Amino acid sequence: MSMTVECPNCGALVNWTPESAWKPFCSERCKMIDLGAWFSEERAIPDPKQRTDEQWEDEDTLSAFNQDVEEEPQ
Ligand SMILES: [Zn+2]
Repeated sequence: MSMTVECPNCGALVNWTPESAWKPFCSERCKMIDLGAWFSEERAIPDPKQRTDEQWEDEDTLSAFNQDVEEEPQ
């Protein structure tokens, strides 16, 4: 039983076996390229992170409020 996947970076077919160390990528290079793209994408968008921090504060207030509501018997 063999399975092949497409390398997310270059589209090459990769045998999905315990021996393929870089699956689902075809090679270390493709894995590093993809991770690099992922990281630089994250770093390129500073806004959402700041918004997430604000959201966390809001969610804290909201969850405290929701807990009060949940504890109230109907
Ligand atoms: Zn590849």
